[in-house]
Parts: sequence; C-alpha cells; structure tokens
Amino acid sequence: MIASPSAPTADRAVTERLNLLDLAPDDALGVLAGFMAESGEAGYRAAQVYARVWARPVGSFDEMTELPKALRLRLAERFDLPRLTLQTRQASTDGTQKFLFSLRDGQSIETVAIPEGNRLTLCISSQAGCALQCAFCATGAMGFQRNLTPSEIAGQVRELRLLDPPLLATNIVFMGMGEPLMNWKAVDVVLTLLNDPRALGIGARHITVSTVGVLPGIEALAARREQFRLAISIHAPSDALRRTLMPVNVKYPLADVIRAAAAFDRRVTFEYVMLEGVNDQPEHAAQLAQLARDCRAFVNLIPLHPGGALGFTPTPGARIAAFARAMRDRGVEVAVRKSRGLDIAAACGQLRTERLGRRLPVRPEDHEHIDVG
Ligand code: SAH
Repeated sequence: MIASPSAPTADRAVTERLNLLDLAPDDALGVLAGFMAESGEAGYRAAQVYARVWARPVGSFDEMTELPKALRLRLAERFDLPRLTLQTRQASTDGTQKFLFSLRDGQSIETVAIPEGNRLTLCISSQAGCALQCAFCATGAMGFQRNLTPSEIAGQVRELRLLDPPLLATNIVFMGMGEPLMNWKAVDVVLTLLNDPRALGIGARHITVSTVGVLPGIEALAARREQFRLAISIHAPSDALRRTLMPVNVKYPLADVIRAAAAFDRRVTFEYVMLEGVNDQPEHAAQLAQLARDCRAFVNLIPLHPGGALGFTPTPGARIAAFARAMRDRGVEVAVRKSRGLDIAAACGQLRTERLGRRLPVRPEDHEHIDVG
C-alpha cells in the first residue's frame, strides 16, 4: 500500500507500521515471534521471515513467496521494510561505483562500492551532511542535515544486495558522508546488523568505523566485544595545524585522541590526507611518526581527492613516497592509498572518499592490520 499525500488516514497507517530494519536482530526476531504467536502461526516462521530481510533479502513481504499469501499480507500491514530510492548509479573506469539514494524526507546520501580482487568494500554514509567542517572536505561544506536511522545506514548495504545482479559487500567502511561517532545510537545498532550472521553477517574485522576522534564514541566502540576496527582521521600532527584544518580539534585535542587510540584494545589506523605545502613537510613526517608510535597505529597516507577542496592541492606522488619512507625509517607501518573513482567523483562532488590501498611492502606478519578498505 502506498500512501498518497492527499490521504492522511493511509499516511497514518504507513507510519504506524513497525520498521523492522531499525531493530537489532534479537529485537526484530522477538517482535516477529510475538506476531506469529498471536496470529496462530508456527514459531519457525519468525526466523524464516527474518532470513529474507537482510541475509537473502527481498524488497517487500509480497516477494517472500515461500510464505502463504495471507501471511504476507498481514506482515505487510503490521511491519515496514522501507526502501531507499536509487536516484543515480555511476560507474568509474576503474570499477568503482557510486550510488546516490534519496530518503523518505528528500535527503540524499551516497554509497560507494570499491572492488579489489575478491573483495568488495562499501563506503557507507552515517549522516546527511556533516557538522565538522574539515577544511578540505566537500561534505563538511554542505553543512549538517540530520542523523541517519539504522535502517538508512544498514539499508545502503541491503539495497546493493537487492540489485540484479546483487553486489555483496565483503568489507564496510564508515567513510561516506557524516561522522559515525556523532550518531552512535544508530551506528551501535548498525554494527550489530552488519555483523550478526542472522542479518548481514560481515566479519567484525572487516568493518571499519572512521572518526575525527570523538572521544565518547571511541570509548563506546571500544566497549563492544566484537573486533570492529577503528580509523582516526589525524591529518595534522600538531594541535596548532590540526585546529586550522579540523575545528573539532578544539574540543578533542590530539593528545586526548592519541591516548584514546592507545587505550583501544585493537590496532588503530591513522588516516592522513596529504595537502601540498600544508602537512607534507619532513617535520610533519617526524611528528606524525611519533604520534603513531605512541599508540602503535598503522598509517594510511591519502592523496587529496581533487575537486571540491577549495584552496588545497594534492601532494605530488614522489613527495608522498618520500613522506612514507621517512615514516618507515622511524619504524612506522604506512600505506599509500590510491584515489579511486576520480572520474565519477568529479561529476558529483559530494563524497571524496573513494580510495583504495596501494600498499608499500610490509612485513608478512603485519598484513592482517592493513586491510582497511
Ligand atoms: N567523519 C569521519 C568519516 C567520514 S570522512 C572521518 O572524518 O573520519 C572519511 C575520510 O575521508 C576521512 O579521513 C576524511 O578526512 C577523508 N576525506 C575527506 N575529504 C577528503 C578529500 N577531499 N580527499 C581525501 N580524503 C578526504
């Protein structure tokens, strides 16, 4: 049933349906079990329905053709499985694809799918816009619109599974629009949905939360039992410089962020966007190496994605390589990322995070630490 704007009663019926995609698996299975019991259905039906929500998804209850028609109709009256509307899909010559989804209130968000070998990394958005105003970031320039709900965040992964042929993500990075740790309530549920085998079933070590260093959020992530990965956007190795690039540094200064990274019981990755003449000098390499050593971080050097970061130019490749060598000479593990989807990012200009690693050689025992997609 589709509610039309001129039919307020129908509208109300739609909003009263419970959105199953906003619930963690235990909660969703609980309400489904209750519904089956009160409808006189067999108990196994709850898990049967839930398997078609995330794991082998279909777009609507009506498509769950293994269920009796009458049950499908009653499920659709009681529960909502909201879709994200695919507005545009663009493919880069390098295989990267970008999806623009519109939400029920008209906001739009981007998701990027980055293939590499056997892996498919999805870069997902956690907010519409962003409040943080990092100087080189195009999303910051859009301002903050609102937090996304769990169904809108995990729904990006579900929508790509619903494509024909499906795109099945092996890795997830929260490196799309927004600051995930400023939307922890939703991201907390999403992490469960991504990881739980009854939902999306992606290994925790293949799921990376990227943050500017929101301390309460880092503590909340650290408190989770699963081995989710943490990436921290450092981008400048001193408070004085970082403040000019990332206003959030006033609230969460570097020393506190590094302390939180050191306390995190899993290895942390630093993200460092190379800005020509700004943060790419030899003294910056020395300072950054010290910070990385202080918390045993792995460092990703990221070429600036051009087009949108007004006033900044990318550090040339040779200089990035020299910066990486200077870090390695100080005993820090470092990778130089490769910009991906440059052609399609230029066309849209919101997300500038389509990147993938081209790694410098690392010791074999360190390989497991570097697959932040
Ligand atoms: N708010 C989170 C996650 C979203 S941004 C965070 O800041 O970590 C994901 C990454 O893309 C961050 O490291 C961000 O600094 C980086 N980024 C933003 N603009 C970029 C650009 N123009 N080129 C390269 N990386 C960029």
